Amino acid sequence: MSESRVVIIGGGFAGLHAARALTATGHEVTIIDRHAYTTFQPLLYQVASGGLNPGDVTYSLRRWASNDSSHLASFRRATVTGIDFDNKQVIVSRGKPVSYDKLVITAGVGANYFGIPGAAENTKLIYTRGQALEVRDIIFTGLELMAAQGDPNKRFTAVVVGGGPTGVETAGALAEMKTQALPVLYPETTVDTFHVVLVEMSDRLLSPFDRRLQRYTHRELSRIGVDVRLNTAVKEVFPDHVELADGGTLDSDIVIWASGVAAHRAVSDWGLPQGRGGRVLVDNTQQVIGRPGVYAAGDVCLCEENPVPQLAQPAIQQGQLVARNIINAEKALPLEEFSYIDKGTMATIGRNAAVVQLPNGIKLTGFAAWAMWVAVHLMTLLGGRNRITAMINMLVRYFAWPKSAAGIIGDFADSPATLAAREDD
Ligand SMILES: Cc1cc2nc3c(=O)[nH]c(=O)nc-3n(C[C@H](O)[C@H](O)[C@H](O)COP(=O)(O)OP(=O)(O)OC[C@H]3O[C@@H](n4cnc5c(N)ncnc54)[C@H](O)[C@@H]3O)c2cc1C
Repeated sequence: MSESRVVIIGGGFAGLHAARALTATGHEVTIIDRHAYTTFQPLLYQVASGGLNPGDVTYSLRRWASNDSSHLASFRRATVTGIDFDNKQVIVSRGKPVSYDKLVITAGVGANYFGIPGAAENTKLIYTRGQALEVRDIIFTGLELMAAQGDPNKRFTAVVVGGGPTGVETAGALAEMKTQALPVLYPETTVDTFHVVLVEMSDRLLSPFDRRLQRYTHRELSRIGVDVRLNTAVKEVFPDHVELADGGTLDSDIVIWASGVAAHRAVSDWGLPQGRGGRVLVDNTQQVIGRPGVYAAGDVCLCEENPVPQLAQPAIQQGQLVARNIINAEKALPLEEFSYIDKGTMATIGRNAAVVQLPNGIKLTGFAAWAMWVAVHLMTLLGGRNRITAMINMLVRYFAWPKSAAGIIGDFADSPATLAAREDD
């Protein structure tokens, strides 16, 4: 017999972990997501730089629902546009509203442009599969154009804004492409024709990490050819250059925005309390403030008394707690408070170079950290086939790196679908 019907907005880390625990305890669960698949965001930059295929980092949500052994899971592909709390219904972009007994909001986040003029219009993101493919197309189209023109004075400049894990990983992957793949794949060009700049407004990279790991990251990135600019703030972004707060200018063929996140704009139409970055305010039990019986988990939410980093592990643990609290509430038991179990943080810089910081104080760099990073990411991917194909593609990238980096150019860069995809974000 089914318990109450739970509707979960967003099939990412938090949503899927909540759903799994709820169907296992007899709850009917419907996940609503604007995409037909869940996305493993931590490896999207590998898609953007031609190392992995989009199918390696995404998993069909219909497949997830059909694989659920309880037969209580279902999926609805739609963008949520509103919530009717009085009638307990979620309003969606296509089809009838979806009724719920309990509601869980796990819609993740999008870019925060901090009001910088031109940033929204003239930069690219790598938060979704479509965006990662767009970046890949623009870069490889630019390289092909340079090869065709054969002008020794022309160079392609990729500017990455934001020195957090996403910016560091993206800049590192692009720099490796420049030093290792370019000379083999594009003999018409030289390594100097591809310029990677990483711009960070503070005085350090990877701010949540230990100082020694920050310095290692800076050294490694510089060694593989990234032009790291610390204490450098972006003032305005134009289609072909970036103006800096210190009066300088950077020419750019692509600007990748990896600086800060905020709740999706649509969330402000859902009648929920919002805090910093538009994030939905929750209490320690993950209940939305002022909305008993409505929960939020993952990047989308903020508990002001107990803030946690916007990473996969907190999202997973909060999703699991929401499931337990829905069950506790049904049994009239007290709700549990969220307590984050830190399992460590890591970021990769390039082949054989990464940083790992474990909660017991152990810090790793170099090959050991990189091997751990690869293992953790492969294990966390959803679906056996994804794990195998991602592993094969990563092995190919490791052992046959130069030749494997040739991203196949689609027509994404020019496609109207690209614009539509960005509207969704
Ligand atoms: C490029 C990149 C690299 C990262 N690297 C790391 C890393 O190395 N380690 C780490 O721990 N974390 C990393 N993160 C962060 C990590 O991916 C997030 O913290 C995590 O995905 C948050 O999970 P979530 O469930 O809250 O949201 P998400 O996983 O983002 O899921 C949200 C879901 O909601 C859906 N959605 C959004 N709006 C709507 C709507 N209106 N209607 C319907 N559906 C909607 C989305 O399509 C999405 O499927 C990275 C993030 C990015 C972008």
